[in-house]
Amino acid sequence: MSDSDELKVLDPATEEVIATVPAATAEDVDAAVVRAVRAQHGWAALAPADRARLLRRFADTVDAHLEELARLEVSEAGHTLGNARWEAGNARDLLEYAAGGIERLLGKQIPVPGGWNITFQEPLGVVGVIAPWNFPMPIAAWGSFPALAAGNAVVLKPAETTPLTALRLSELALAAGLPEHLFQVLPGHGHIAGRALVDHPDVAKIVFTGSTRTGREIMERCARLVKPVTLELGGKSPNIVFADADLRTALDPFSFLDNSGQDCCARTRILVQETALDEARDFLADALSAVVVGDPADEKTQMGPLISAAQRERVRSYVPDGAPALRGSAPDGPGFWFPPTVLVGERHDSPAAREEIFGPVAVLLPFTDERDAIRLANDTPYGLAGSVWTRDLGRALRVSGGVRAGNLSVNSHSSVRYWTPFGGYKQSGLGRELGPDALTAFTETKNVFISTEGPAQ
Ligand code: NAD
Repeated sequence: MSDSDELKVLDPATEEVIATVPAATAEDVDAAVVRAVRAQHGWAALAPADRARLLRRFADTVDAHLEELARLEVSEAGHTLGNARWEAGNARDLLEYAAGGIERLLGKQIPVPGGWNITFQEPLGVVGVIAPWNFPMPIAAWGSFPALAAGNAVVLKPAETTPLTALRLSELALAAGLPEHLFQVLPGHGHIAGRALVDHPDVAKIVFTGSTRTGREIMERCARLVKPVTLELGGKSPNIVFADADLRTALDPFSFLDNSGQDCCARTRILVQETALDEARDFLADALSAVVVGDPADEKTQMGPLISAAQRERVRSYVPDGAPALRGSAPDGPGFWFPPTVLVGERHDSPAAREEIFGPVAVLLPFTDERDAIRLANDTPYGLAGSVWTRDLGRALRVSGGVRAGNLSVNSHSSVRYWTPFGGYKQSGLGRELGPDALTAFTETKNVFISTEGPAQ
């Protein structure tokens, strides 16, 4: 574990250093939280319409810098340009959506005897957001923007390898007129700056996205302070394909190759009904060899590099030389490349079939019937996402009911929409982000009872 006082940001497609940023110390985190506490008081005191107006201005400012943000994501994270443009647009749209919630953050009036009873949704105070490197901009936005909308200040720690889009977002927030220190971004090491945020008594909640191992540690540390957490952790999501499905759409290789497979919702367990297995294998072999892997800044590229040399080694460890597999191609030379791969000889309980690889590698497994499909789909410690492909609606509903995961799609591979709740079952996480309740997750509920008893008139 490094504790250098600066972070070198590499372009993963060239391995060149594109920026160096200071790494925050525990003292820096402490000072940022002190500033955030002050900023939050002023922010929460603003009229809701004024807070909404400022967040909409922030959305407009992000919109005006969409291409710049997208290109920054391409160069620090190796995302394809098309994906990166979608990600910058997603940050803008979420700001608009969250701004719309500010004036609708309603409490309840509850009928009680002897008086009136009202509930209020009050901001928590300062929220700490710890983001990963796989989707640096959207995940920073999902944790931070609803929290700001609910009246909180945010201190965001991006991943060591990808701090640039988050830093730019905080500059754009200031340019849009958000109060100083309301949305602070502190790049730094997880075990130093991240831990300081988790342990800080004035940080009221932690939103963490990353590995299950780190998520578990954060939850344990938060438990000591009885601090609430939202955890978005790993996944090993099934793509359940019945023989009656449109196989070409169901087996779209970008269901697991998008973002080079560094996606917690990637459908990396391709479960195909055994009667369609040969056809599926032939289709995937052709589809993988047609994938265009290369320079992510080229509009024609469909898949870029992995984030780092360490990640490539990790992915490689699941694909031994000579393992039976369907393979596409990848560039040689500088850059952290790995070819699209589907392992075809795995047992359903092998490490490659059960553990999160976080690279462009899936396993192809046969199933016999509905019951077998559900059993296999649930046979991992994770429960984040999944797809069910069949023309039989009753079966689609039964299988959706049987799979223990937070985000399922029928005849679709989509997982994340800012309008709908996102999060995992089992070791994929705790709590939900996005959706209509996103702001409520950053509030405390206060109940006030007002007695109507008094001297008779
Ligand atoms: P990680 O969990 O170590 O890091 C994620 C974030 O947590 C980073 O910002 C990191 O600095 C911070 N962090 C690390 N240790 C911390 C600590 N003790 N206290 C507070 N913050 C801490 O993930 P990683 O090492 O970057 O990736 C490892 C694996 O995690 C990947 O291979 C993948 O399987 C998984 N992963 C999952 C997601 C996801 O979206 N579910 C995202 C990234 C990584």
